[in-house]
This record gives sequence, structure tokens and C-alpha cells, in this order.
Amino acid sequence: MNNKQIIFKKRPLGTPDAATWELQEHPVPELQHGEILVQHHYISLDPAMRGWMNDTKSYIPPVAVGDVMRSGSIGKVIATHNNSKFEIGDCVTSWGGVQQYAIGNGDGWYKVDEGLASMPMYLGTLGMPGMTAYFGITEVGKIKEGDIVLVSGAAGAVGSIVGQIAKIKGCTVIGIAGGQNKCEYLINELGFDEAIDYKSENIYTALKKKCPRGVDVFFDNVGGMILDAALSKLRMHARVVICGAISQYNNKHKINGPSNYLSLLVTRSTMQGMVVMDYIKDFGIAAKEMGAWLKEGKLKSREDIYEGIENFQETYERLFSGEKNGKLVLKVIEE
Ligand code: NAP
Repeated sequence: MNNKQIIFKKRPLGTPDAATWELQEHPVPELQHGEILVQHHYISLDPAMRGWMNDTKSYIPPVAVGDVMRSGSIGKVIATHNNSKFEIGDCVTSWGGVQQYAIGNGDGWYKVDEGLASMPMYLGTLGMPGMTAYFGITEVGKIKEGDIVLVSGAAGAVGSIVGQIAKIKGCTVIGIAGGQNKCEYLINELGFDEAIDYKSENIYTALKKKCPRGVDVFFDNVGGMILDAALSKLRMHARVVICGAISQYNNKHKINGPSNYLSLLVTRSTMQGMVVMDYIKDFGIAAKEMGAWLKEGKLKSREDIYEGIENFQETYERLFSGEKNGKLVLKVIEE
């Protein structure tokens, strides 16, 4: 049995290219005592992957050159060697990396119930992006009924859930996304109140028109110019959640910070960064509540699934071009 793996070959400067990764194929080694063999069905593609390639101080160490590219993954246990915690057939998720098979002693692997949700959903709404949305908007954004919430990257895996949770909690929600189709999706399918197409509208003019009363919470996934513009719309005691800054991840030099930051002073607002793993002990609580919302039809989840580990790089690039709808996932099992 062979394992196709995406090996991280070279740290990119700016946008990753063909030299960044290499597809390799190696036989799956024999299991040692206590180990499990997981056959991956799906790999999660996340903007954070870009940050993990940089040899800089961050919330986790960078991916080492020569290692399998780090990623979230989900699949099934297909063999065990004296491991009492897992059985053949268990559906499990972890940071298995961009490869078709993963071996480990089971630490860091979590069983999920395929009867409750599909595997791709466990990488999105019921996985890391969904948890980020839940804790980011409730714990850091501290939303309350009646708040005006602005979210960037609004049609993405995190942003789409942020906006829907804010609607469930009785907020007015404005989403910023790239393209007319995504904006229509936010309003017509997800129930957002307004949407701004940052690719065709002037962001300052659009904010003036669509957030005339300002915002109580700005949940930022993209940084750069959009963060700067949103800072000019803060109401008194607003909360700015720094979740990500995808517009800056491929910068070759310094990232562009906000120049409008003194509006925090004027409005006595806070701007706070978050890392989802800080909330890991409460993931179960969030998953239960979000699972119930999904069942009741209050929360919608959309996954965009591509196929073939050979297509990893071109699928990854969709995160940055925006050519995808919802949570980006790669199917790596060959049938
Ligand atoms: P995603 O939204 O599913 O995919 C990325 C989206 O970003 C694209 O679809 C594209 O949408 C948008 N985008 C790309 N380049 C852009 C640019 N230059 N300006 C504006 N928008 C751009 O990704 P996600 O998984 O939900 O992640 C969203 C953000 O959350 C990322 O910054 C990620 O790093 C961050 N994050 C943080 C944590 C944490 O713990 N802090 C955890 C998970 C994710 P459009 O078509 O709308 O342009």
C-alpha cells in the first residue's frame, strides 16, 4: 500500500509556487505497538497554512522543510496494533497532514459521529473554522442582541458562521465578500442584512451607505485596507476581533497595519486577537449548540470539495483567489 504525500520543500517568499511542495509516494510502514493507521478521506485547506510556512515566531512552530505539509484531516481507522482506544472503522479527525494515510499512537485524534454530520462538515462548521467563529464572535466579540456586526471574509468558512451566529443572537449583520454572487448568497441564503462587494465597491462609500449607524463589532478575517476602513466606523465601546489577515499573508515585506487606529481611543473600543486553540476545552459545548442550530435549520453549512491529492496546490490557491464557495476541502481517498 502506497501513501501519496505533499512534502514541504522550500519556504516561499510571497506566494507559494511549484517549488514549495513536492508530491512523493512511499509505502505505508508497518504499524508498531500501540499505533493506528488512518486512511484520510478529506484534507482541510486553510489560510493558516500560509503562516505555518514562515520561519517566524507564531502560536505554533512552523512546518519543517522536508515534513509532510501540515493540515487538518478526517478519515477512518483501517488498522490498529494493540491500541485499546480505537477500533477499525472509527471516523477520526486530527492534524494528519496532506497525505493519504497517517500513522500515530492515537494522541490528538478525535472520534466523530458520521451519523450526525458529513466528514467535510467536521473540517468546517463543526471543526476548527466553526469553533473559531463561535468563540471569536461570542467570547471576543461579546455580541449581544441589537448589536451591529460587520464581518469581513464573510462568505468563507469562518465568516459565514460568524454572521449566522450573530443573526441567531439578534444582531444586525453586514458582510464583506468578493463578488456579486457571494454577496447575494449572504443576503438571500444566510439572512445577512447587507453585503458589500469589496471587489467592485469603494469600501468607504459602501460602509457609509450600509452601516450608517456604525458598528459595535467588527470581526476581521482579511486585514489591510478593509480593517482600516472598518476602524473608521466604530461606535462607542466597540469590539474589533482580529481573527486573520489573509490580504497580508503573501506579502514579501512588512504587512500593512491600520492607520485609523486612533478611532479605538476616541470610541474607547478594544481590538483583540484570538487563537481558536485557546478554547479547545469548550469545543464540545460549541459543537453541541451548533449541531442543534444545524438540525433546526438556523445555521447553514457549505463545503466546496475538490478531488485528488495531485491537485493540492491549485486547490490551495483558491483560498487566496476566492474561487471557492464556503469551506475548502480536498478529497484524497482514491476509489
Ligand atoms: P476562507 O474564508 O474560507 O477562505 C479565504 C477567503 O478569503 C477567500 O475565499 C476570499 O474570499 C478571501 N480573500 C482572499 N484574499 C483576500 C484579500 N486580499 N482581501 C480580502 N479577502 C480575501 O478562510 P477561513 O478558513 O474562513 O479563514 C478566514 C480567516 O480566518 C483567515 O484569515 C484565517 O487565517 C483566519 N483564521 C483564524 C483562526 C484563529 O484562530 N485566529 C482560525 C481559523 C481561521 P472573497 O471571495 O470574499 O475574497
